Amino acid sequence: MLRSHITSHIHNMASKPGILTNWPWKPLGSFKLVIISPWIAHSIYSFIKGERDPVYQLIFPHIFFRLLHSQIWISVSRYQTAKGKSKIVDKGLEFEQVDRETNWDDQILFTALITYIGYTIMPMSANLPWWRTDGVVFTAILHAGPVEFLYYWLHRALHHHYLYSRYHSHHHSSIVTEPITSVIHPFGEHLAYFTLFAIPILTTILTKTSSVAALFGYIFFIDFMNNMGHCNFEFFPPKLYSFFPQLKYLIYTPSYHSLHHTKFRTNYSLFMPMYDYIYGTVDKSTDATYEASLKKPKESPDVVHLTHLTTLDSIYQLRLGFSSLASNPQTSIWYLPLLWPFTMCSIFMTWITGTAFLLESNTFKDLKLHCWLIPRFKTQYFSKKQSITLNNLIEDAIIEAELSGAKVISLGLLNQKQHWELYIERFPQLKIKIVDGSSLAAATVLNNIPKGTNQVLLRGKFNKVAFAIANALSTKNVQVGVLYEDELKELEQRVIVSKGSSTILPIDTPKIWLVGDEWDENEQMKAAEGTLFIPFSQFPPKKMRKRCFYHYTPAMVTPPTFTNSHSCENWLPRRVMSAWRIGGIIHALEGWNVHECGSTILSTDKVWEATIRHGFQPLKILTNQASLMASH
Ligand SMILES: [Zn+2]
Ligand SMILES: [Zn+2]
Repeated sequence: MLRSHITSHIHNMASKPGILTNWPWKPLGSFKLVIISPWIAHSIYSFIKGERDPVYQLIFPHIFFRLLHSQIWISVSRYQTAKGKSKIVDKGLEFEQVDRETNWDDQILFTALITYIGYTIMPMSANLPWWRTDGVVFTAILHAGPVEFLYYWLHRALHHHYLYSRYHSHHHSSIVTEPITSVIHPFGEHLAYFTLFAIPILTTILTKTSSVAALFGYIFFIDFMNNMGHCNFEFFPPKLYSFFPQLKYLIYTPSYHSLHHTKFRTNYSLFMPMYDYIYGTVDKSTDATYEASLKKPKESPDVVHLTHLTTLDSIYQLRLGFSSLASNPQTSIWYLPLLWPFTMCSIFMTWITGTAFLLESNTFKDLKLHCWLIPRFKTQYFSKKQSITLNNLIEDAIIEAELSGAKVISLGLLNQKQHWELYIERFPQLKIKIVDGSSLAAATVLNNIPKGTNQVLLRGKFNKVAFAIANALSTKNVQVGVLYEDELKELEQRVIVSKGSSTILPIDTPKIWLVGDEWDENEQMKAAEGTLFIPFSQFPPKKMRKRCFYHYTPAMVTPPTFTNSHSCENWLPRRVMSAWRIGGIIHALEGWNVHECGSTILSTDKVWEATIRHGFQPLKILTNQASLMASH
């Protein structure tokens, strides 16, 4: 965590930031929309009054249209590059890049601001017609001529070390590009680009040939080409080029601009490669890279982790959703309820989609790791009606993982609810190993118990993780306390214990609580001050006490060599992964030829030793008095 923060600082800006680096509204933070609020209010007011001027009244909705357009590109590109098919640069994204690119909406706000100002000071921009053919043709010619030509030379100048170190290096910090990388530039550079793009717009307005279609169509064209050029997967069919060989000079492809990001000194053109051909700056490997990217097959995973949606908002916090939300632990965000039409759509989509789909792809050591998402929410896992459909979804995912050659499938969150031992009995020929990760979850909880503890309280439903923990504690002479007689009986039946190692304890005695599912969370109120709650459950408990400490759900920090880490797993911090998911990875790395599910559980010591050996680190939290003071 700390490391990624430090590096993000270093790469945050160009190495010698020049003047006009930051957007002028940066101090306003997320309130930046106030810049254009007077115009927004006035345009809505005039619309209600019945004054219709399409350009003026479309500026505000156009902001949302452009946000949506870019968001679609982000989602599609992230899904496609996870699959690996036709992927251009085979490198992972990291948190620092996501952080650097979170302000991709600034240029959308800037366009709106400039348009409002232009509209206000130029009377001829009022009441434009919807369409004028001459203006559209004019725009196209002015783009292909002056805009592309001037951009090419401006771009060459920006690669001069003086301007490069002060401005353009910011854009080039991203070697692997995402669609939104296209608009990540210092403010001063945006000013230059806006001046270029103003050439066709102003010319058509001044010659009174402009139209709504020409104006908004041109912005759409720029957005589309920008996002496309940075999407990191190739999709132009080779057939297109054999039918129209000239196209190669007129429209760039994602692999064409990708070479500018990997090689820096070639392929400078904006959207039309002809200027690189004219001035001899085309990369020699352009055609080969294009063909190689198209031939790249879908990647097959070695380990698949199966997860699912949690809350309704969680769809936005997936890495295929809003990239900046996904790069931070899940929280409730005030504006997400406002997106209810999309939320409804997505719920509807989850009803009709019949299969788990690929969410994330990582590599670690020699393994290709996939995370697949069952498109169902947490509540659906508790519905009796849904249980057969859910079971089928998970079974289909296991079969698909087996067919795609995966060695291990780990079951995350509530995907463990079914009885997988029966499933294995039904399919004895199954090669893939089903791993529920219980042994590592138990080992992580054991490690989270502070050294020197001699008494813990066990709360929640006793599952195999709880029994494994209790067993291990009894060998370490740690007393396991419960609150009720029947719990004590259950524990004594299932745990090999010496006399007195488990007992009934008063609720306010132990300072360490191990908490699972299905317990009365209000009991927390009776815990002693300074109590540490360590969950062994999949979901975190509700934090009801201020002067107590809460550990994360069983999880560990991933090693630095774990690639493509740029989104958080549910509520966990950056670069932290749930123990159940790591369990599957360790299982594959060690080549253990057994399932871990049903009543089977591996040795917690053996699993812990292997996990540490492979570089995963325990996740620490602050539990001293100083941190208590700091939080108040
Ligand atoms: Zn460049
Ligand atoms: Zn670029």
